[in-house]
Amino acid sequence: MNGATDFSAEVAVVGGGPVGLVTAIALATAGVEALLVAPAPADDHRTTALLAGSVTALATLGVWEACRTDAAPLAAIRIVDDSRRLLRAPEVRFAAAEIGLDAFGYNLENRHLLAALSARAAELKVPRNASAALAVTSDSQGVTIKLDDGAARVRLAIGADGRRSLCRAAAGIGTDRRTYPQTALTFNLGHDRHHQDTSTEFHTESGPLTLVPLPGRRSSLVCVLEPARAEAFAALSDAELSDEIERRAHSLLGRMRVEGGRGMFQLAVETAHCFARDRVVLVGEAAHVVPPIGAQGLNLGLRDAATLAELVADARRQNLDVGSPRLLARYDAQRRADATSRRIAIDLLNRSLLTDFLPAQGARGLSLYLVDRIGPLRRALMREGVAPAASKPRLMRGEKA
Ligand SMILES: Cc1cc2nc3c(=O)[nH]c(=O)nc-3n(C[C@H](O)[C@H](O)[C@H](O)COP(=O)(O)OP(=O)(O)OC[C@H]3O[C@@H](n4cnc5c(N)ncnc54)[C@H](O)[C@@H]3O)c2cc1C
Repeated sequence: MNGATDFSAEVAVVGGGPVGLVTAIALATAGVEALLVAPAPADDHRTTALLAGSVTALATLGVWEACRTDAAPLAAIRIVDDSRRLLRAPEVRFAAAEIGLDAFGYNLENRHLLAALSARAAELKVPRNASAALAVTSDSQGVTIKLDDGAARVRLAIGADGRRSLCRAAAGIGTDRRTYPQTALTFNLGHDRHHQDTSTEFHTESGPLTLVPLPGRRSSLVCVLEPARAEAFAALSDAELSDEIERRAHSLLGRMRVEGGRGMFQLAVETAHCFARDRVVLVGEAAHVVPPIGAQGLNLGLRDAATLAELVADARRQNLDVGSPRLLARYDAQRRADATSRRIAIDLLNRSLLTDFLPAQGARGLSLYLVDRIGPLRRALMREGVAPAASKPRLMRGEKA
């Protein structure tokens, strides 16, 4: 089929995780014909804290209404230095009301988000092939995607196929990858006291322990530990693990009861050398993986989806080739800058927790002290965290792509 001009669709989105689904929905609502190549996703017990810009994008795409009742608002974020270090940072509390918002964002279980996205894609009649992409080949005219039951031919292939992306490998794009000596143990839990819509991060020498509100007296937990200790924790009974987490959280939320569905994720940072090449564009974790610290990963991925949908919709309106080198270069430049700045910030924060180097501990303590004391600096940080000034695609401003 190489060089064939018989197109099955203008664009194919490969991967039906949250980023792939949002990309397909954004394209469909902008009137771009997009084929979704997506086998059923694996069970996912994680939750995602979606920041305000992502929530606006989901509302604009007609998805948020279906998520609302399963999502808990994040009205405040508290950071507690729980290390035994000599130079400890003061406790810092960020309140969304300080920047005129009801909430920084909302936390919800990925299974609810995926169900709402799949339902919206079906409602918009996005064509979906449940096969995995088996091979992806580009030529000067288009891209051929080999599927279980044949092949699809498109002008642009969007790789939303996660951290082991076939699309990325097919386009010959390498990555920079570094792993940390840390594992994130994740699960949800019930507790006696209400969280008051406040997310609490305990910063410890092994990494953060973060409790993020879910509706009612429930929270999700991301506990970053040395790998051996994470293994040992994961092997505990529900009762033992509940006690251990309650102890580590200083009984802040009272008695705890862990729920089923524990996850373990090695912390890694991985960035593709470029985000687009030869009619293949990468979005979400196919382009960048960041550790689950500061709720940035999927929010970055949704900004990829919104930016790309906007560029493709604009090209389509002007009858231009949606897989042109110019479009790919613009996407690459816009998205790499945002992903790189987030990666550096998360990396610095994580390393400052791990280090025994006193000046680094001091610098972290001083930064948090300044953030605590200087209102305008704190508010600027909060605004930047919720919606980066340098990257605000139309969907994140409440407009159609
Ligand atoms: C513990 C933890 C907590 C997190 N918490 C947050 C948070 O609070 N906020 C936040 O913003 N981010 C968070 N993240 C990050 C977030 O989970 C990821 O950024 C997000 O899941 C990435 O979505 P994705 O669609 O890019 O990839 P994935 O969710 O990995 O989806 C990729 C999809 O592609 C499919 N696929 C793979 N290969 C093929 C193929 N050949 N053909 C077709 N389909 C294929 C897979 O089946 C899968 O469905 C967290 C991550 C972790 C590990």
